[in-house]
Amino acid sequence: MRSRSAPGADSYTAFVNRGFGRVLARRLGLPRPAILRRYTPGAPLLAGPVLVVGVGAGADALAGALLAWQLDVRRHATPGERLAAIVVVLDELAHPDELSDPVRAAGASLRDLAGNGRVVTISRPAAADQAPAPAAARHAVDGILRSLAKELRAGSTANGLMLADGVAPDAPNTLGALRFLLSARSAFVDGQFLSVGTPGQAGAIDRARPLDGRVAVVTGAARGIGAAIARTLARDGAAVIAVDVPAAGDHLAAVANEIRGTALQVDITAADAGERILAHAAQRHGRLDIVVHNAGITRDKLLANMDAARWDSVIAVNIAAQLRINEALLASDLFTRSPRIVSVSSTSGIAGNRGQTNYAASKAGVIGMVKATAPLLAGRGGTVNAVAPGFIETEMTARIPFATREVARRLNSLQQGGKPADVAEAIAFLASDAAAGVTGNVLRVCGQNLVGQ
Ligand code: NAD
Repeated sequence: MRSRSAPGADSYTAFVNRGFGRVLARRLGLPRPAILRRYTPGAPLLAGPVLVVGVGAGADALAGALLAWQLDVRRHATPGERLAAIVVVLDELAHPDELSDPVRAAGASLRDLAGNGRVVTISRPAAADQAPAPAAARHAVDGILRSLAKELRAGSTANGLMLADGVAPDAPNTLGALRFLLSARSAFVDGQFLSVGTPGQAGAIDRARPLDGRVAVVTGAARGIGAAIARTLARDGAAVIAVDVPAAGDHLAAVANEIRGTALQVDITAADAGERILAHAAQRHGRLDIVVHNAGITRDKLLANMDAARWDSVIAVNIAAQLRINEALLASDLFTRSPRIVSVSSTSGIAGNRGQTNYAASKAGVIGMVKATAPLLAGRGGTVNAVAPGFIETEMTARIPFATREVARRLNSLQQGGKPADVAEAIAFLASDAAAGVTGNVLRVCGQNLVGQ
């Protein structure tokens, strides 16, 4: 069933960013969600200087690496100078007392942060086997980052990198993830951490077409987020196999034609879905590098009224099918060259949602699966991650009644719903060599949705 409201239509945001609407919103003190800057190929990474805050060898080395990207790098702020980004390097923390100087230095420059600006912290995760003081200092960054993301306005975001011990702030794996967080590709990622380790090594990356030569499968590609993923992976250079149910055949063919990919009509719950996907990839391309498990369904009902059909179908599509397909992938010789799996979870799988025990079970299950699959892929230089979208403007969310939808789409730090392209950009990043150090992560694309974390 289709809604009459076009997916992605957020007329309030458009209204308060134009002439009379802007004046009215300001006078009445209404929220003014910003128009987010989104990625366009060829646009500069940042539209102004980047301030690198932090003492120690790591901060200096990182500043040097950013200079090599031809960015305008500052080690000290000049009050009043507009900044496009602030990077706070906190990789050597030993005690919470050490936070004051670098964090307040970053804070003093926040007024100079341009709209759609970026703040990125670089720190290390606290570990149970650490002394209490460094563990406290490291975990303190969590609270700083999440509060700062809620403080920023005008489309600016704050996100963090958590570097495993031994990964330097200027290591290729760090830089690959940092570039994503600084870029317009992460427009709807806010208040989140990415863990960076050493499962693979980011090499030289063709920045215009980072997926050149790769073969990617996207399930549920006929519409919504899946169609956006297929388009984005193709834009980044991948040959895309677009998968969806036979009933969506026309839409699927249209997407596949548009991106010069191929369409494969498969119900992913079929027992041989994995084998059919592999056979198609082998026949058409002789390789398979990326699998994006995006297909998903909702069948909402309070648990008190839940019937078997609703429960079973959601589990079958959203998690059991992924598990079975992954088993086939792991058993195949085709899927062995730095393979990438990205699974679409949901903030419902993290925070829960009334009426969605079945859906939340499946989406939380995806997170469990991803964490347990990461070591299985590491041996072949591969990675597996989950992306958890919050409120995204699609046909799925356009069906939500108006008042509920309007509240749900504003309940995040960016005060708006994300676009399918925002989820797609995060997935394209995780599928690329830039994310060679990122595995077993759950990356929320939710504008820092106020539920969950
Ligand atoms: P959608 O309903 O618009 O599209 C889902 C696609 O998956 C459809 O084309 C459908 O035909 C396909 N599909 C369903 N069952 C299938 C099966 N058995 N085999 C093959 N294909 C199948 O949904 P969407 O909003 O684009 O969501 C895409 C994914 O993102 C889903 O996993 C969803 O749970 C997740 N998600 C969406 C939101 C949101 O706000 N829209 C938020 C969080 C997570």
